[in-house]
Amino acid sequence: MQAASMLDQALTRLDEAARHLDLDADVLEKLKYPRETTKVRLMIRMDDGSRKSFMAWRCRYDDTRGPTKGGIRFHPDSTMEEVETLAFWMTFKCAVMNLPYGGGKGAVQVDPRTLSKAELERLSRAYVQAFSKIIGPDRDIPAPDVYTNSMIMGWMADEYASIVGEATPAVITGKPIALGGSLGRDDATARGGYYLVQHLARALGLEPGARVVIQGFGNAGQHIARLLAADGYTIVAVSDSKGAIHSPAGIDVDRLMAAKGQGSVTSLAGADGISSLGAEDLVSVDCELFIPAALEDMIHERNAGSVKARVILELANGPITPEADDILATKNVVVLPDILANAGGVTVSYFEWVQNRQGYYWPVDDVHARLKSTMEREGDAIWALAREKGITLRSAAYVHALSRLAGAIEAHGTQQ
Ligand code: GLU
Repeated sequence: MQAASMLDQALTRLDEAARHLDLDADVLEKLKYPRETTKVRLMIRMDDGSRKSFMAWRCRYDDTRGPTKGGIRFHPDSTMEEVETLAFWMTFKCAVMNLPYGGGKGAVQVDPRTLSKAELERLSRAYVQAFSKIIGPDRDIPAPDVYTNSMIMGWMADEYASIVGEATPAVITGKPIALGGSLGRDDATARGGYYLVQHLARALGLEPGARVVIQGFGNAGQHIARLLAADGYTIVAVSDSKGAIHSPAGIDVDRLMAAKGQGSVTSLAGADGISSLGAEDLVSVDCELFIPAALEDMIHERNAGSVKARVILELANGPITPEADDILATKNVVVLPDILANAGGVTVSYFEWVQNRQGYYWPVDDVHARLKSTMEREGDAIWALAREKGITLRSAAYVHALSRLAGAIEAHGTQQ
């Protein structure tokens, strides 16, 4: 898809949701455009002494419901349009979960796998130097996203503390535990999706033993594989950026983890009934549950028709295009939409921010229990709304979020 049209595509979901609510025109006008996007060219010193520059962005899409919140992505294909679209999704995701946040997002156009650890640290610190006036614990709160992790968040928090002259852990979430991170944040995205599947399993017709395909084996993909396998689900196919593998009899999760630790799951191909698979063939593998856990637009007009799964759990952001959504709906495939299904990550980010502000840290069981009840509460509300209005779960999630956003926009009054 053309990057320039990404936000327009995403906005079609807003228009669709608006048709189910009696909204003031001001509300849509406010949510149709990103409020502020800052673009900076970061310059860093490479290990060989040369200087290199990288484009970087931070978008604060909407802050009506609170400080803007959302991750920072390091990816060679990142663009401003992608950052703005992801920030739009964060706005709706935080509203779906009733977190006191607006939506934001950031990115650096870089392939972090080509940098040394020292270069990566300099780049992470340069990002915070450039955006130190934009981020803040009551203004805009970053977190990890694709190809960023707790180590990077730790460097960023440290850099922010030296700029403002005091420890400010609540400026960023997803930090290492030693620097004020929350227990349970590392697997929170997958765990939130897992609690949702567990809660709705009967209604979705999913039983332990059901076959699962996972697209992407990063943080979300690895943790969902582990959680579902422990419940008796069978992982029949997995992909990562190097390719895909398939075994109808199931693939052992420990072996997948070990192979990924060595570089890629594809190294398992050829062993014990495991065959390699073209990445594009993954969506048509026979299974009950398909889990996109990589990037946007993976299921599109041209491959949606071949989906065999009856349920899709969107752990990635925006993995299904609007055209593909329509095709899946006619096939009665149930989509658990990203702004609900992967919201466990930002929900535990919120718990981390609360713990940082309280200076009081919770046991992991408390984090899990609160995440579970939040996923179930919002999942039930969206399920009921979809039933009542006869709409998809995605439309219902947008209606649910939009009514909260509209309430906040109206409560702010007419002067701004
Ligand atoms: N990057 C994650 C997301 O897309 C987490 C954001 C956060 O924790 O703020 O939801």
